[in-house]
Amino acid sequence: MATLEAMLEGLQCPRCGRENTYVVRDIEWTQKVDVNTVTVTVRAGVCTNCGEEALDSVATRTIQAAVDKLRAGAYTELAHMGEAYHA
Ligand SMILES: [Zn+2]
Repeated sequence: MATLEAMLEGLQCPRCGRENTYVVRDIEWTQKVDVNTVTVTVRAGVCTNCGEEALDSVATRTIQAAVDKLRAGAYTELAHMGEAYHA
């Protein structure tokens, strides 16, 4: 399996079009699940030019696992961070 670093090497950013601008960072990814959201800290690529975030398969699976927990109602495995409001 390709590493995150290998995936990012020479990558052309889909948002800004620059090449080789990605660095590896720990980011907080927030995924909407119906009316709820779940936030996961994952290792991902971030474009130093425009801030676009690129997920590898490990990060995608980590996020999917959190989404599955939320969908399954496994709230004891998640931390409740507060309520969300929409105006
Ligand atoms: Zn970019």
